[in-house]
Amino acid sequence: MTLLGDAAHLMPPLGVGVNVAMPDVCELALAIAHHNTTGQAIHAYEEIMLPRSTEMAQLLDGAVDGLLSTELPDFASADSH
Ligand SMILES: Cc1cc2nc3c(=O)[nH]c(=O)nc-3n(C[C@H](O)[C@H](O)[C@H](O)COP(=O)(O)OP(=O)(O)OC[C@H]3O[C@@H](n4cnc5c(N)ncnc54)[C@H](O)[C@@H]3O)c2cc1C
Repeated sequence: MTLLGDAAHLMPPLGVGVNVAMPDVCELALAIAHHNTTGQAIHAYEEIMLPRSTEMAQLLDGAVDGLLSTELPDFASADSH
């Protein structure tokens, strides 16, 4: 058994979820096609999927804070051009 997409790595709502899920699908399909056993295929897939999704999660760490902010943007000081 293995996991992919949101089940493997739920991301914050910043437009990356399916963009991380689709490469999972491709990697898993290729791994199944190129390995003799399901176990080898899953191992090969997870070797790629886990670091990639971890890297994305680390990149987005804290990025959701702005979505939850209660402070309004400062429109008065915004450039009027
Ligand atoms: C409002 C919103 C906007 C988004 N915008 C973006 C975006 O702009 N860019 C982006 O990259 N990502 C976006 N995402 C995230 C993206 O939709 C998900 O990351 C992606 O759909 C994950 O795909 P998945 O196949 O892993 O899971 P899902 O798409 O959730 O698919 C899981 C499927 O499993 C089914 N299921 C659940 N339990 C069972 C069960 N027990 N038996 C059988 N079936 C079951 C569900 O019905 C569902 O069809 C957005 C998500 C939301 C909610």
